[in-house]
Amino acid sequence: MRVIVCGAAGFVGSHLCDRLLATGYEVTGVDSLITGSLQQNLAHLRRHARFVFHRHDISQPWSFAGPLDAILNLASPASPRDFANLQLDILRVHSQGMWNMLELAREKGARFLLASSSEIYGMPDHHPQAESYHGNVDPVGDRSCYNEGKRFAEALVMAYHRQYGLSIRIARLFNTYGPRMRLNDGRAIPNFIGGALRGEPLVLYGDGTQTRSLCYVSDTIRGLQLLLESDETRPVNIGNPHEWSMLNLAEFINDQLGNAAGLCYGSPLHQDDPRRRKPDIARAQATLGWQPEVELAQGIAWTANWMRSQMQKTACAAV
Ligand code: NAD
Repeated sequence: MRVIVCGAAGFVGSHLCDRLLATGYEVTGVDSLITGSLQQNLAHLRRHARFVFHRHDISQPWSFAGPLDAILNLASPASPRDFANLQLDILRVHSQGMWNMLELAREKGARFLLASSSEIYGMPDHHPQAESYHGNVDPVGDRSCYNEGKRFAEALVMAYHRQYGLSIRIARLFNTYGPRMRLNDGRAIPNFIGGALRGEPLVLYGDGTQTRSLCYVSDTIRGLQLLLESDETRPVNIGNPHEWSMLNLAEFINDQLGNAAGLCYGSPLHQDDPRRRKPDIARAQATLGWQPEVELAQGIAWTANWMRSQMQKTACAAV
């Protein structure tokens, strides 16, 4: 199987390349490096016989020589900080970038998998969120570039499926964490683990009662591959249904990493920040036989080990 992974130098995309290569695929990684890193995430694949990398912005035209079995599109900045700084890039990659890659899939007769997001559910008024829930999204909110971008991307994928019979897959990923996350991207896990490793109080937004469901990256990647190889053309939630309040998560991380500095309140909750998030994964269980396996304590330990080594490298480089 010969596949293209767009967003290959990112956090999730690089793990996906590793897994596809480990299971025999030939992988072409494409990435503009707008938020990804070759050095951090793909250096270990430089000499891999079945891996090729192209630096390219998929919002620009691109051609690919030879046969192709699938395109897996993960290209998009994905952290709340990016939603503020890269709004137009995010909208472009979900419109023009998607269009370019869908046309390439159509030309090659390749399958197309979109990494969509739980953000399409917006500020959910249904709990937990099943794929049948249509969401509650503010089209002019702080996150609209991302959640409306993903909604448009899903609509575009469906249009190619209905109009051209393109083989498609839509994964709605919920919060994923693990090694290779950017240390400063503003998401809860790198914030909390980074703070705990530095021995600082962990900063909570609002009162900390807002929740997230956190899936370790190896579980997410396994779900993506199962979906790619399945016959399921409806959207599928991929996430861990174990729901954590940010307060409980911060306390848990302090406990796990032996940080006695406690917590720090007083930072306002962002206006568009969803209050609750929890996937209903019945469809993934029934059609893919998938459910998460990695417990939070284990995932936190693996992620903290990796973050510690990155922080040491940065400190050494500064000497
Ligand atoms: P990331 O920022 O680490 O990776 C995204 C990659 O896409 C980066 O390497 C970036 O350089 C690349 N990219 C962005 N725009 C591009 C363009 N125009 N052309 C080529 N490459 C481009 O983010 P991530 O956390 O790994 O997320 C990967 C995908 O999964 C995204 O589509 C994201 O929306 C989706 N997702 C992630 C999560 C999560 O918790 N990490 C949750 C839901 C959905």
